[in-house]
Amino acid sequence: MSNPFQADERFADGAQYIAGELRPGTSGREHAVVDPATGEAVYTYELAGTAEVDAAVDAAARAFPEWAGATPGERSEALHRFAAVLGDRAEEFAQAETLQCGKPIKLSREFDVPGSIDNASFFAGAARHLEGKSAGEYTGDHTSYIRREPIGVVGSIAPWNYPLQMAAWKVLPAVAAGNTIVLKPAELTPLTSLLFAQAADEAGIPAGVINIISGAGRDAGEHLVGHPGVAMTSFTGSTAVGKRVAEIATSTVKRLHLELGGKAPFVVFDDADLEAAVHGAVAGALINTGQDCTAATRAYVQRPLYDAFVSGVADLMATVRLGDPADRATDLGPLISHAQRDRVAGFVDRARSYATVVTGGEAPQGELAKGAYYRPTLVTGAAQDSEIVQAEIFGPVLVVLPFDGDDEGIALANDTPYGLAASAWSRDVYRTGRATREIKAGCVWINDHIPILSEMPHGGYKASGFGKDMSAYSFDEYTQVKHVMYDNTAVARKDWHRTVFGDR
Ligand code: NAD
Repeated sequence: MSNPFQADERFADGAQYIAGELRPGTSGREHAVVDPATGEAVYTYELAGTAEVDAAVDAAARAFPEWAGATPGERSEALHRFAAVLGDRAEEFAQAETLQCGKPIKLSREFDVPGSIDNASFFAGAARHLEGKSAGEYTGDHTSYIRREPIGVVGSIAPWNYPLQMAAWKVLPAVAAGNTIVLKPAELTPLTSLLFAQAADEAGIPAGVINIISGAGRDAGEHLVGHPGVAMTSFTGSTAVGKRVAEIATSTVKRLHLELGGKAPFVVFDDADLEAAVHGAVAGALINTGQDCTAATRAYVQRPLYDAFVSGVADLMATVRLGDPADRATDLGPLISHAQRDRVAGFVDRARSYATVVTGGEAPQGELAKGAYYRPTLVTGAAQDSEIVQAEIFGPVLVVLPFDGDDEGIALANDTPYGLAASAWSRDVYRTGRATREIKAGCVWINDHIPILSEMPHGGYKASGFGKDMSAYSFDEYTQVKHVMYDNTAVARKDWHRTVFGDR
C-alpha cells in the first residue's frame, strides 16, 4: 500500500514558509524527510539558515500591528475559516502525517487530524473570550481595569512525535490572542506544519502571521530563541533541550513556556476493573508507538492483581498488529527513525541484566525489517531506581512493578523527576480522590489514560516544564496583563501627594 502524499511536488519551492511564500533554506545543509516504515527518503530540503530565521521574524513583526489590532471577532472569523479549510483537507493532512512519522493511518485520521481541527474551532471561539479578571474602583478615587494584550512575535519550537498537533497547540492560542508566530518544527517532520501554515493562508489569515522555519535545533532553533525580535519562546521537546532553550531565553529576558518530557505512572489499586486496566495500559503505552509524552510507561499494580495484570498485558500485546502505516488494519507503526529504534532497544537491552523482558524486546524480521519497527515490550522485575523505570524511553515499552499499601503506590508514582501525566485505576472514590490530590502531575486520569481535549489544559509539573497548551489557560502564556488606572477625582493636588509634600 503506498502513501499518495507527494511531498516533492507539494514543497518543490522549499520548506521555509515566510510571509506567505515557500522558499528554500540557505544553510548549505540538506536534510531528508524519511518514511520510517521503509527507510526511504520522501523529501529532501535545504535546512533554514539564520537568514531565514531573521526573515521569518521580520515578516512576523511586520504582520503584528494589523493582526494585533484586528477585533476579536475578526480573528475569530479567520480561525473559523481556518478550521473549515483544515476540515476540507483532512485526508491530505492524515496522509502527510503518516508518511513523515510512520503513524498508523487510523491514528492520523481519528486522533491527530480531528484533534487539530477541533483545536482550531475551539480557539476560533475562545478568541472572543479573552478577558481581564478585575475592574472596579478599588481605591475609591480611581477606576482600575485589566487589558490583556498580545506579546508580539512568538518563537515556537516543536518535536516530531505529533507534528500537526504540536503546530496546532503552539500556533492557535498564540494567534487567537493577537500574536504572530515563527514555528520551527523538528527537522524530521516539517510537512504538516507547512501544510498547516498554507491552510491558514488559504483561510485568509494575513501573510506573516504564521511562518515556518524548517531548520536544525542547534543553529536555526537557538537563533530563533535568542532573536531580539522574538518576545516569547514556547518550546515542546525533551527536558535536556528545554534546559538549553531556557538558558538562552532567560539570558535574553523572554517569556518562556516549556512542555518537556514525561514518564507517566499508571497506578492500579486492587479493586480496579482488571480488564479495563489491562486494555488501558496497553493502549496507553503503545499509542503513537509509545512516542507520546503522556504515554503509560510505569504501571504500579497492587499485589493481589499483579500476576493477572502482567499476563493480561502480555497476551494483549501479542495481538497488536505491526504493519504498513498506510494500511487501516495496522495497530502499531514504526518508531520515528532507525536511530530512535536503536535508542529504545538500548534501554531494553541494558535492562536485561537487572530485569525480565516478558514479551517483545526485539525488532521484527521479514517484510518489516527495513522499517524502524520494534515489538510491543513488557518489562518486569526492575528496581524503582533503575534506568528503565526512571528515564523517558519514548518507545513501545511498559514496565510493571508491584506495590503493597496505597501509600507506597502513590509514593512510587511520584518518584521520578517528571510530572506531566498519570492515571489511577480503582472503583473506590476515596482512593481515586486521594490519587488526584497527591500525584504530582499536570493531568491525572481516573480509570482511563491518554484522552485530551481542547477545553482542558495540557502541561507539566516538575521537570516536565511549566505553562499550559490548549484551553483558555493557554492565554495566560500568550498574553500579558496590563493594569490601567484612571483618576476619578479631577483634582490637581491628590491626597496621596502628602507623602511627598507633607502639609503644603
Ligand atoms: P528534542 O528536544 O530533541 O527536540 C525538540 C525540538 O527542539 C526540535 O524541533 C529540535 O530541532 C529542537 N532543538 C534541538 N536542539 C535545540 C537547541 N539546542 N536549541 C533550540 N532548539 C533545539 O525532542 P524530540 O526528540 O523532537 O521530541 C521528543 C521529546 O518531546 C520527548 O522528551 C517528549 O516527552 C517531548 N514532548 C513533550 C510534550 C509535552 O507536551 N510536554 C509533547 C510532545 C513531546
